[in-house]
Amino acid sequence: RTKEQGRNHYQFYNPNLSSEAALLLRLESLLHQGLEKKQFFLHYQPQINLKTKKVVGMEALLRWEHPSLGIINPQKFIPLAEKTDLILHLGKWVLQTACEQNISWQKDGLPPISIGVNLSAREVQQPNLAEVVARVLNDTGLDPQWLELELTEMSLRQHLTQARKSLRDLKNLGVRIALDDFGTGFSSLGYLQQFSFRTLKLHQAFIRDLRGTSEELGIISAALAISKGFNMRIVAEGVETEEQLKILSNLNCEEIQGYCFSRPLPVKEATVFLQNAARGSL
Ligand code: C2E
Ligand code: MG
Ligand code: MG
Ligand code: MG
Repeated sequence: RTKEQGRNHYQFYNPNLSSEAALLLRLESLLHQGLEKKQFFLHYQPQINLKTKKVVGMEALLRWEHPSLGIINPQKFIPLAEKTDLILHLGKWVLQTACEQNISWQKDGLPPISIGVNLSAREVQQPNLAEVVARVLNDTGLDPQWLELELTEMSLRQHLTQARKSLRDLKNLGVRIALDDFGTGFSSLGYLQQFSFRTLKLHQAFIRDLRGTSEELGIISAALAISKGFNMRIVAEGVETEEQLKILSNLNCEEIQGYCFSRPLPVKEATVFLQNAARGSL
């Protein structure tokens, strides 16, 4: 009840609030309503192994469809949601929904794959992150090895001690950790060693304008060598064209995520994609 009152209160103009604070409160209330009214849903984008021609994972990507504002891009609302505690509720919903979906694919008899879930900085810094994840795994019955949590360097840099602890706890649970947007941050080799990610996701900036110049090839080869040296797998993100695919394949980059195979798909289409892939037609 008090929550209800508090939420309604946001609708009224409050002269004591700065406009940014007012906007945040309004957004928080919209996000809250969005969760209650089931305006959020997930799209799933396949990750393909070029050698085995198999789907190795799906990344869950959050979508928000507001009845009057239309579909809102996660890059717009997530940074704002991160300024409030709602990101924690939203993040938990994503985690739960993605894990449920993955177990449901397994129950349908599809070959097991990992489900990628993006974590925001706030979630990584949450002291009980591992407990939240453990509970979701327990509730859904998903084996931890089929959950891959994606996080960026920024989320690790802000509260290093807490982040380090969170990662250690998660690893003890047996879930996989991926470093998202690899190559755009500040990662030193020591840093990569310290966190021992299972996966590096090479940022699409390195792929987007890939024409095959020696400099471009050099950077990607270096990234591949680093992943190999640390025994991490690497996934190239944002691969759109056959040409890019060919260049990456020639460099022995095995795992690919991008429009060239599939855009992020609504759950029904994602399921069909997995069924076709399981039949060997990719
Ligand atoms: P990300 O985790 O790096 O996700 C990859 C983004 O690249 C996605 O954008 C995806 O749709 C897009 N993409 C995939 N293949 C291609 C391609 O071939 N070409 C191009 N141009 N783009 C491609 P999206 O879905 O808009 O998500 C943007 C970002 O929002 C994500 O980047 C992630 O940082 C964040 N995000 C998405 N869902 C969640 C979530 O559930 N929780 C959190 N905390 N963040 C999320
Ligand atoms: Mg990601
Ligand atoms: Mg990324
Ligand atoms: Mg990102």
